Amino acid sequence: MINRRKFIETSAFGTAGLITAQLGAELSERAGIKGKPIVISTWAPNVKANYAAWEILGMGGRSLDAVVRGVQIPEADPNDNSVGYGGLPDRDGKVTLDSCVMDEKGNCGSVMALEHIMHPVLVARLVMEKTPHVQLVGEGALQFALEQGFKKDNLLTEQSEKAWKEWLKKSNYDPMRSVKEIEEKMEKKKKDNYPWPVALLNHDTIGMVAMDTNGNLGGACTTSGMAFKMHGRVGDSPIIGAGLFVDNEVGAASATGVGEEVVKICGAHTVVEAMRRGLSPELACKEAIRRIVKNKGSQAKDVQVGFLAINNKGQHGAFAVQKGFNYCVTTKDGTKVIDAKCWYP
Ligand code: ASP
Repeated sequence: MINRRKFIETSAFGTAGLITAQLGAELSERAGIKGKPIVISTWAPNVKANYAAWEILGMGGRSLDAVVRGVQIPEADPNDNSVGYGGLPDRDGKVTLDSCVMDEKGNCGSVMALEHIMHPVLVARLVMEKTPHVQLVGEGALQFALEQGFKKDNLLTEQSEKAWKEWLKKSNYDPMRSVKEIEEKMEKKKKDNYPWPVALLNHDTIGMVAMDTNGNLGGACTTSGMAFKMHGRVGDSPIIGAGLFVDNEVGAASATGVGEEVVKICGAHTVVEAMRRGLSPELACKEAIRRIVKNKGSQAKDVQVGFLAINNKGQHGAFAVQKGFNYCVTTKDGTKVIDAKCWYP
């Protein structure tokens, strides 16, 4: 039986989340499964996405359904400036979204450089389920979304437009922008004796992977990509094997950070293959980071990438190049935010 008091102490679920969490715990205990279900996602503010995913996982639902539900939270959040609605635009002022999903059978779907659609993850799922293809891009992806009944939205919020106009004054593309912002905020907040974890000050792409009560894995990754990128640029997030990879026999992994570096090492696939060789999720993520650091040589200090993973036993882990990367873990014991270890502490 779940220890109700302990659960409440360690979680911040709302009432609905709490009830489904208890149900999920009971279901998995009845089935004799330990460590399941579990859902993890990139970046502290995505605890809200974990709660949404848990409402499905906790009821004994499927991992794919849970992650697709979870990542829609930041997609619809206008204050999240790196995913979906409110995402920072490219250098031409266009919000272009990348997203993908993968299920326990190795089925997958993705959309790239999709404009005007608030929930690219839903379109990615339909690419997987309703087309003979895996990837749709740009105009073609939009045409498919509209055929499927999605409505066009203006995804550029006033706040993001303002940030873009400010950026235009210097037009300096800087993939390390968010790392620098975190560091500046850390310094400032240290001076002000700011009481909250610095981790809660910034966030990026959501990569979410889960294991359900049946032990099946699933994942989703969704982003507006690097702020002020070239129009048409696609990063790692919608690329199966780079931003996301799921193999039910082994585990699942996702990535965040400078997508070009993740693509170069087939990041998420590299993590899953390292777990197949017996490494723990954390050490598997570290192995992928090691390859990026090796590739970048003396420039490695100017790059941030973070990986997270779960294995088929429901164990989890993460690793990043720089400090500042964290991830959210939700199990029957509640939700916690964990600071990932990093190559340059
Ligand atoms: N990985 C994403 C991309 O390169 C961006 C991010 O995670 O911040 O598009």
